[in-house]
Amino acid sequence: MSVDVQLAIDQLKEVRSLTADENGAQRIAWTPTWLKARAWFQEKLKGLPIEHHLDAAGNSWTTLAGASPKTLILGSHLDSVPNGGWLDGALGVIAAFVVLSRIAKEFDGKPPVTIRLVDWADEEGARFGRSLFGSSAFAGTHTIQQDRGRTDANGIRLEDALATCGVSIESIGDAQRERDYAAAYLELHIEQGPVLEKLGLPLGAVLGTKGVERHAITFHGQEAHSGSTPMRARRDALAAAAKLALAIRPIAMQYSDAVCTMGSLKTFPGIVTAVVGRCEATLDQRDLDAGILASMYSEAQQKSRQFAEEEGCTVEWSRIWNIAPEPFHPELINLCEEAVRETVGQPHRLPSGPLHDAAEVSRSGIPTVMMFVQSLKGISHNKIEDTREEHLRQAITAFDRLASKTIEWIAAHP
Ligand SMILES: [Zn+2]
Repeated sequence: MSVDVQLAIDQLKEVRSLTADENGAQRIAWTPTWLKARAWFQEKLKGLPIEHHLDAAGNSWTTLAGASPKTLILGSHLDSVPNGGWLDGALGVIAAFVVLSRIAKEFDGKPPVTIRLVDWADEEGARFGRSLFGSSAFAGTHTIQQDRGRTDANGIRLEDALATCGVSIESIGDAQRERDYAAAYLELHIEQGPVLEKLGLPLGAVLGTKGVERHAITFHGQEAHSGSTPMRARRDALAAAAKLALAIRPIAMQYSDAVCTMGSLKTFPGIVTAVVGRCEATLDQRDLDAGILASMYSEAQQKSRQFAEEEGCTVEWSRIWNIAPEPFHPELINLCEEAVRETVGQPHRLPSGPLHDAAEVSRSGIPTVMMFVQSLKGISHNKIEDTREEHLRQAITAFDRLASKTIEWIAAHP
């Protein structure tokens, strides 16, 4: 029995027209438009032999009970960033829906293992700055103490926004109960980057999500008059930072998939007539391999000290945030690659730079893999985000194959 690809495409277009304006998708979590998207999705579930509930963190669970309680979870997120794209998250939820529907039909409402569909709450963290909210509650990596005081641009507290959606921040950790019997998690997502398009490939099996080291780096020199201070007497903090901005590129390029970005640079006093006395930079480094990430971090530190010394400055580092890489399950990566090869002929494996709910699920010990479909121009979080319809069809077909393979894999693993 084949999956209803056309229905998925139609539904993607339907939810886009329901929740987007001229600037793009507006399904920001904990807002009326997001609730509208979720209510729309509930309507689609009617007629299926399923149970539905929201968990303690607001994640939406749809369960098709199988002969075994061992559970295959399929999911993604309906929420979007403001002025977002039509596919980020929605593709994974709607693909999961048509796959679950196919399985329900094929097995007459009773598949060999239990199938659950999850729409994670607030993947994007767009309004309160807390990404992966629902999936981290599920995984037990949630942070109530830090999150309680978060506010949006209008001063509304996260805690209060949750309450309007029936979620109490105190009890979000109860979402961990949903992990019972979970045997595998699969997520289909747009790549949100240019790699598959550059290779001319529609689909790829995702190896895992890259770890991140994010730091603030401050160079201290000496403010001085730009006219009276001879070149050799300067302690120019910007000069040291500029050297580092260039040096992080060859540091990253030693490794095939590593990235390093200096995304922000502020100079003080920041006027045209003064040598820069203080320069504040940020560094974001990512790789799938924890060892590579650690060596890029120490190489960047070493270079920053060298450049500070060359320019008569000092340098200090402070960590803004970090997260460990999360490699996905090797056997599920193989199954995903098989499904991709059987659907489009050519397999490919790639790491994910962006974080995803799948990383939290994997971190909680549940075997996990993601499938990526090509993003046109590599653009996402924007109204021009798009994927060729032919590629969307191939993605849904391959994801359905992956679900079947994973059901067999779960059944074969006691
Ligand atoms: Zn997403």
